[in-house]
Amino acid sequence: MNPPLLSVVIPMYNEQEVLPLLIERLRPLLDGAGVAYEVVAVDDGSADATGAMLIQAARQWPGLRVVRLRRNSGHQAALTAGLHRSRGRYVASIDADLQDPPEKILEMLALARAKDLDIVYGVRDDRSTDTFFKRQTAQLYYRVMRRLVGKKIPHNAGDFRLLSRAAVDALKAMPEHQPVYRLLVPWLGFPSGEVAYRRDVRAAGSTKYPLSKMIKLAIDSVTNFSAAPLRLATWSGLLSFLACLGLGVYSIVQHSRGDTVSGWTSLFTAVLFIGALQLLCLGLLGEYLGRLYAEVKGRPMYIIGYDSAMHVPAQEPADEADGDRLTEAAAR
Ligand code: UDP
Ligand code: MG
Repeated sequence: MNPPLLSVVIPMYNEQEVLPLLIERLRPLLDGAGVAYEVVAVDDGSADATGAMLIQAARQWPGLRVVRLRRNSGHQAALTAGLHRSRGRYVASIDADLQDPPEKILEMLALARAKDLDIVYGVRDDRSTDTFFKRQTAQLYYRVMRRLVGKKIPHNAGDFRLLSRAAVDALKAMPEHQPVYRLLVPWLGFPSGEVAYRRDVRAAGSTKYPLSKMIKLAIDSVTNFSAAPLRLATWSGLLSFLACLGLGVYSIVQHSRGDTVSGWTSLFTAVLFIGALQLLCLGLLGEYLGRLYAEVKGRPMYIIGYDSAMHVPAQEPADEADGDRLTEAAAR
């Protein structure tokens, strides 16, 4: 089978509310674009009707391919599964919630083909529809990331982007277990362009990125790209050692003068400070050690439960139980 020109990867987790709206908007758009395409909907172990709805929709829409992960593996892992299994010469990734306008995918494709680019970022030029908290945390995130990874990180470019097959293959070749694509992709250094867009409000349903997942993304981002926090531990350890040395000399001098009456305050704060510092450094070490441990274990990032492209129901009509009797293949 010839690879399609365009793959559209959509990670979804419990998106039953927004799914009909998404299909309604995406299908006419892609059908009308006059290119061969596949939509790779990655059901990230949803607990609601998303999986069943996707399988249902795929019966009427030959361009829709459903990949189901056995368990909820997280946005970046779902994206990985989609990228790994996509076949298109260009691969776009987009959220399911219609915050990113799907129409822009065609604009990205046109730009990539016209200028022979490997990466086209969707860049949010207006975040006014995001909550104040989201805007502030996002701004902080991108500022820190530009510091750590370099100036190449486009501001406000999330996971709405188009990649060429070459870029996808380069990403596939990376053995990372906690990839953060918004940092990895710029790091590749392929020729890139940008398409600006306005971020809409979520079309339906509620966010699948609670604070805990945002924090996880931030920690993954920092530790994936930089050992700077470890160095921070070294430096603060060194500084506090010097400070302690000074304080030690001071206390000896005071002692020799017979001036050692009071001072539990300074002692108390010093003990607290050193204790905190040690815990901080241990925590940092633990963070990286944990990552090493995860990499060494080499456990797959996700497990495919079902891929409609690997199972073409020729004569027999597919039924809901299909998902269970299909091959369970480790992702790597
Ligand atoms: N998502 C996912 N797995 C998860 C969490 C989220 O596949 O564990 C998907 C979700 O369905 C959506 C995208 O990631 O398509 C972005 O999530 P969301 O829109 O909820 O994040 P927000 O825009 O609020 O940051
Ligand atoms: Mg969203």
